[in-house]
Amino acid sequence: MSAYLTAAKLRTTQIVGIKTETPTIKSITFQDRLSANATPGQFIMVWIPSVDEVPMSLSTMNPKENLAAITVGKVGEATSALHRMKVGDIIGIRGPFGNSYNVTKARNVMIIGGGSGLASLAPLTEKIVTQPRRKVTLLLGAKTCSELLFLERMKTVVSKANGKIVATTEDGSYGEKCLVTQPLERLLAAEKFDVICACGPEQMMFEVFLLTERYAVSLQASLERLMRCAIGLCGTCVIGKFRVCRDGPVFSGDQLREVKKEFGHFRRGFDGGKTSL
Ligand SMILES: Cc1cc2nc3c(=O)[nH]c(=O)nc-3n(C[C@H](O)[C@H](O)[C@H](O)COP(=O)(O)OP(=O)(O)OC[C@H]3O[C@@H](n4cnc5c(N)ncnc54)[C@H](O)[C@@H]3O)c2cc1C
Repeated sequence: MSAYLTAAKLRTTQIVGIKTETPTIKSITFQDRLSANATPGQFIMVWIPSVDEVPMSLSTMNPKENLAAITVGKVGEATSALHRMKVGDIIGIRGPFGNSYNVTKARNVMIIGGGSGLASLAPLTEKIVTQPRRKVTLLLGAKTCSELLFLERMKTVVSKANGKIVATTEDGSYGEKCLVTQPLERLLAAEKFDVICACGPEQMMFEVFLLTERYAVSLQASLERLMRCAIGLCGTCVIGKFRVCRDGPVFSGDQLREVKKEFGHFRRGFDGGKTSL
């Protein structure tokens, strides 16, 4: 059986750890060899018995111990059910699926995450800092201080890479009082970055996309769309000519330019119908 078909098969595993990261975000750790060996940007489908199956980025990969984690924002039925789960409960896993961030040639990297979007960016940042002659600037945004995901984890990581963190909150309770895209413009005007990696709400990523177009900087953005099969068959996660599950979830600025009538403007429901974002 090919590696892809093996990964696509549902297997079950026990939750071995739960950490409350913020009032609305929890990390759930489980044992799964394939997830533990995934690369930053890839996602899995998580089955919550009797509830639903939802896509989640891998936020920690520990191949030595076959451990991986997802970091879940509480938004609806499935994510609320995940928040109620306990150590020892069973979840189902399919994947890892999708592509990864590719920053192998970039020296000066900017990483920009909003809300639970930092889930896929944290392991990327940790990978970059292990490589020589890299510089990382991390822009972290949330509504309020207590919702700034992985702030302490990222402070330790970024200090290893001659880097810095710029944090923003909408209520001014930590860092700059603004949206995370505001310091981005200032930083782009002052410094040349080789690539920007972004994950967060789609409107935020659309603003990032517009700024990268204006400053001619390469972009890699991870999109979150409704998803059902995750193997390219059902079409639920389609954006323009792309399927997020098979062509993404990480898209380049060039690809996003091709779907800019839909990107940042519409989301699709499970019936395929478009709704304004
Ligand atoms: C590749 C990928 C990776 C993801 N990684 C993470 C992650 O690491 N952490 C995390 O918390 N979430 C992540 N998500 C989003 C997560 O899958 C959804 O929040 C989840 O499916 C919502 O399920 P629910 O039943 O709790 O909410 P629902 O009851 O289905 O929906 C609640 C609200 O959220 C909206 N919504 C539902 N699913 C999505 C979605 N996929 N994208 C945008 N809006 C959605 C609905 O339209 C509705 O407004 C990811 C999505 C994708 C496609």
